[in-house]
Amino acid sequence: MAYINNPMEVYKLLNGSNCGECHEKTCLAFAVAVFKGKKTIHACPYLDKEVVDRYGEAIEKPNTIDENKAEAIELLKQKISSIDLSEAAKRLGARFSNNHLTLKIFGKNFSVDTRGNLSSEVHINAYIAVPVLNHILNGSGKTPKGNWITFRELNGGPSRYAHFQQCCEKPLKQVADTYTDLFKDMLEIFDGKEIASHIDSDVSIVLHPLPLFPIMVCYWKPEDGLESDLYIYFDSASDDNLDIESIYTLSEGLALMFKKIALRHGV
Ligand code: SF4
Repeated sequence: MAYINNPMEVYKLLNGSNCGECHEKTCLAFAVAVFKGKKTIHACPYLDKEVVDRYGEAIEKPNTIDENKAEAIELLKQKISSIDLSEAAKRLGARFSNNHLTLKIFGKNFSVDTRGNLSSEVHINAYIAVPVLNHILNGSGKTPKGNWITFRELNGGPSRYAHFQQCCEKPLKQVADTYTDLFKDMLEIFDGKEIASHIDSDVSIVLHPLPLFPIMVCYWKPEDGLESDLYIYFDSASDDNLDIESIYTLSEGLALMFKKIALRHGV
């Protein structure tokens, strides 16, 4: 059974339609009821079987958030130690030497050894470690196709899109609106590349969270009374290389990271 720390973790799994079929007025009210043990997650008919199986009959009392994250990473490390890492490196086009698989995360080296131990030139947190380990375990190694699509068009994207907007695109847009060096930081710190936009955005930056998993961040400045806008696009082969939860986690981590950077600069 999965551990849940707060109602928002349940809410993230729901489709956000507030349809009321669970006999709660909103998805958020349902999430709170599930977290408090007053309802089981089965009462929402729109969840994938995999989610229902994972979150089970009742919510176990939570560990702390950090314990949970550490636990998820520990489980993934165990899985890594049971696979042939050199084969995984071949599948993903990564480097393998001295029992270490090494690939580039945002352009910086990230290594995992055959026991699942991690080392990196970037700060390792759960928002990076969980997606990278999932990619090593399950990524197909398919080369990006060069077609950009929205989160909603990815496998499993439609049901999570409202949360993706709320927790990833919207916070990043708020940072872009107030922190003018955001895109300069993306280029410098994360080895991003500015490209000519095919969709008429004012700024388009391509980042490589993983070599086979590029993302494009597009920003439209406010103009003539119109609000600014920001969208994150993914390559159409993305969901072959990373599961939807990991894509969400990585994007959420990116938004949090830039929010912190902006705060550090007093914005
Ligand atoms: S049934 Fe599911 S989608 Fe509908 S309000 Fe309840 S939790 Fe939200």
